[in-house]
Amino acid sequence: METVTCNLCGSAETRPFAQLSDLLLERPEVHATLVQCVNCGLVYQNPRPTPAEIVQHYPLEYESYTDFSVGKKRNWLLQKAINYGSQKRVRFVTRYRPQGGRLLDIGCAAGAFMLGMEAQGGWKTYGVELSEEVALLARSRHGLEVLPGTLEQASFGDEVFDVVTMWDVFEHLHDPAATLREVHRVLKPDGIVVLRVPNLASWDARLFGPYWAGLDAPRHLYVFTPWTLERMLGREGFDVLDHSSAIGSYMTFALSVRFWLTAHGASEETKRLAGRALYNPLTRLATAPLFYIPSVTLRGPLVVTTARKRG
Ligand SMILES: [Zn+2]
Repeated sequence: METVTCNLCGSAETRPFAQLSDLLLERPEVHATLVQCVNCGLVYQNPRPTPAEIVQHYPLEYESYTDFSVGKKRNWLLQKAINYGSQKRVRFVTRYRPQGGRLLDIGCAAGAFMLGMEAQGGWKTYGVELSEEVALLARSRHGLEVLPGTLEQASFGDEVFDVVTMWDVFEHLHDPAATLREVHRVLKPDGIVVLRVPNLASWDARLFGPYWAGLDAPRHLYVFTPWTLERMLGREGFDVLDHSSAIGSYMTFALSVRFWLTAHGASEETKRLAGRALYNPLTRLATAPLFYIPSVTLRGPLVVTTARKRG
């Protein structure tokens, strides 16, 4: 474990924020401590696993690594939601760059988003992926240009990309400010970065507290609000163009419900029934307004932030 200062403002002064355990992998013996910076309000894990230690918290069955093209048979609605989510991610990029270009996806996993972009035409995509096994899979199965390792290890040239994306990646980084500096270096002068992170300012975060899926301890080292994220982007030479939380609300909500049930001793049968009820199309239809309101007021569980490299 290591102790760090605030990645946004450098202050070491914190107040306790939350005590958590690993709910996703159901390991109650794995603890994590979140603190909040007294100076700037950033919420982060401290102390936290070192880069070498964090690896043990990403076993291969970790959901994000599941290859979208094979994988286990999924509930059709869940699969639909995933495909729909991929199309939504594509649109976040094309609305600012309809003409195409070179795109780098950091933490690209098996490359689903890269394939979605290339299917648009006019895009050449590159990816970096920490897991060597998953990077190889993306190369061999989908013929994608994916390098294993970190962004820094890839050592791209200066100003080579039009767009850099990080979907559900930024909150996992040990030094997000340093990564933004590297993104700034590899982006062309008017290049854009698109980040999706869990939104600490969401209704879900407030409703579920320590059981909120967006905390994903101990893998999430930072928990941003649109405002702490904007401040960090601003410090590293980016101007925010847009925040949006109109994405992925329902699945995150369903996961939080599962965590809450687990923590309160619900049986597997109860969790199965709850899952079935939540993924029932009628439930979705009936609750749609409840998910619409937060999504248009920046109170949805995820926020997508688009920022442009400052000239
Ligand atoms: Zn701070």
